[in-house]
Amino acid sequence: MPTTPAKAKRLPKSDTLTLELSGDAAILAAVREWLSMLAPRPKPKLSEFMSEHARDDTGAPITPFPFQLDMADAFTDPETERLSCRKSSRIGYSTILQSFVAWRIRYDPARTLIYQPTIDDAEKFSRDDLDPVLQWDIVREVATFKPRHADNQIRAKRYKGGWIQIKGANSPKEFRRVTADDVFQEECDGYPHASKDEGDPGRLADKRNLTSPRRFNAAGSTPKVKGTSRIDKRFEEGSQEYRYVPCPHCGEMQILTFGDGTGAGIRWEPKKNPTRAWYVCVNGCVIEEEHKADMDAAGQWRPHNPAAFPRHRSFHIWAAYSQHPGAAWIEIAREFAEVRGDPNQLRTFVNQVLGEAWVEKGEAPEWERIYLRRERNMLLGTPASWVGLLVGSVDVQRGSGGQGWLKFSVWGFGPHRRRMLVHSERIEGAASDPATWTTLNDIVSQTWKTADGRHLKLARVAIDSGDGASTMAVYTWARQHPGFAMAVKGRPAVGVLQAISPPTWQDIALNGRKIRRGVKLWTVGTSMLKLELYGLLGLETPKEGEDYPDGYVYLPDDVSQDMVKELVAEQLVEINKRKGGGAEKWDKLQERNEELDNAIYARAVAISLGVDRWTARQWAKLLGTVKAPRRPPAAAQASQAAETTAEQRQSKQTAAARPKRPAPSRRSNPFTSRGR
Ligand SMILES: [Zn+2]
Repeated sequence: MPTTPAKAKRLPKSDTLTLELSGDAAILAAVREWLSMLAPRPKPKLSEFMSEHARDDTGAPITPFPFQLDMADAFTDPETERLSCRKSSRIGYSTILQSFVAWRIRYDPARTLIYQPTIDDAEKFSRDDLDPVLQWDIVREVATFKPRHADNQIRAKRYKGGWIQIKGANSPKEFRRVTADDVFQEECDGYPHASKDEGDPGRLADKRNLTSPRRFNAAGSTPKVKGTSRIDKRFEEGSQEYRYVPCPHCGEMQILTFGDGTGAGIRWEPKKNPTRAWYVCVNGCVIEEEHKADMDAAGQWRPHNPAAFPRHRSFHIWAAYSQHPGAAWIEIAREFAEVRGDPNQLRTFVNQVLGEAWVEKGEAPEWERIYLRRERNMLLGTPASWVGLLVGSVDVQRGSGGQGWLKFSVWGFGPHRRRMLVHSERIEGAASDPATWTTLNDIVSQTWKTADGRHLKLARVAIDSGDGASTMAVYTWARQHPGFAMAVKGRPAVGVLQAISPPTWQDIALNGRKIRRGVKLWTVGTSMLKLELYGLLGLETPKEGEDYPDGYVYLPDDVSQDMVKELVAEQLVEINKRKGGGAEKWDKLQERNEELDNAIYARAVAISLGVDRWTARQWAKLLGTVKAPRRPPAAAQASQAAETTAEQRQSKQTAAARPKRPAPSRRSNPFTSRGR
């Protein structure tokens, strides 16, 4: 627990000093001052400091909200090295940061870097949020910041023992040649995407104080898009603290949630232009706004990931807790009623008022927007010059009257988690008809010529075994192509957090004979991969001069509208939301969704091959941009990579079982070797 020396904000009054004789008063005051200079300066906790010294724009004292106090103390807890606050607006995070800057100057000078999204933001922050702090009485006791003085520039302030620099994350120069003790990342979800040459601004900021023995790193931001949100990722890595407050009627401690109008959450009437709002407790009690202050005063921060406590404290807080007049429950209800019909405004509401990343609710991205952002200079059938790995996916479909077809897709993968839809095709024929599989054999063994003239074959093909009626046919086909075809099965539960699980052996029936452990079956966590895909499809096309962000999903110019519609064919809906987390499931928005399934399975296979961990050098070899001694075909290299990742355990066991024998010569696989 925190060990910061507490209290003792004022000088101790000894008994002798209280016996003030009129003539000695001046001497006593001098002695008192002299003593105060000798005594070690006790450092108050930030909560105490903030309650006493924080001032608003007009110079009036601020009374902190109870939920702010523990967050504030994490700033001055020497055991806390990293702090992340995922927040809505109107919760007063900037007051905490302001107070901490003042505390530093007064009690513990340090080298402080504050990053804002842009240099313009940095200047604005300095003028509007920092300059007033430098005039607080408590700061003026120890430091004077004179107008137009060299030590008081807009983005660089110097004081005895320390300095403050305010920087913009939009320029790589802002991250160079500066070493600090504190790094603050303000609104880090508003930083630009990673650039080709410089990397991710969030990570660059993190590096600025690595060499400081007393480093402290804090980020506060409203989240943007699930999957790419920096603050969301930091929140997950930290202690994940939520604010529990008691119901004034039944006493149950609970997290305040917006809700969906059925269980716990904010309610209002009338629906269109609310004039009254209240909160419904998890046990159904009706709570009025007037109770909010008492509830927060009796509230507690509870970590959902205590392992990270106290080294990395992360907090989630949103408007419903705030006693700011603009955050009253009726105001939140009014805002929601206004924006609910407009997806863009709703997204802003989710970010700014609920403090949540968009897509957390699982809305499918609008297919029109994705269709419009397709790549003008890419075509289906031609992998881009950065594609180093091709993965195929097959979805088996049954039609009426014994008919059926296979949906076959190919995705290309490259460095920085980028991927591209390369091929999509419908293969007519029922799973029960051997001719269908012969056709598939021809198709999966073909070669794709990349934009820079390389020839790529598929490294792997995933095939969905899900539909019970065709499972045996799928197993049989997969068994014919060991090390190439992967039979997969989706696990759609929202809570599954593993993209692809180690395979299990399945029995198969072949020509009426049962073969035990005849084929391997991989299980894919489809929900998390769909959320990832949707988050990445939500990335905006880079502007002129910007690089494509990490994880970008490229759709060639000639994809059809139907392909795009299939790719975003499902959305995550909440079935029932209680106590801050509810049951959720994926619902089809339209009947055809094979393109989505295939995209997910291809990504799962790519993960099993280890692409997210491949180094720049491994990619360069695949892409032929560095010379390897003898360059094997790209697909074969990918297979080698796979053997050291997904099937690592398997091959290790095999090796252990037969330590002395030379490795058995592998039967060449018609699909992965070039057959020269
Ligand atoms: Zn209650």
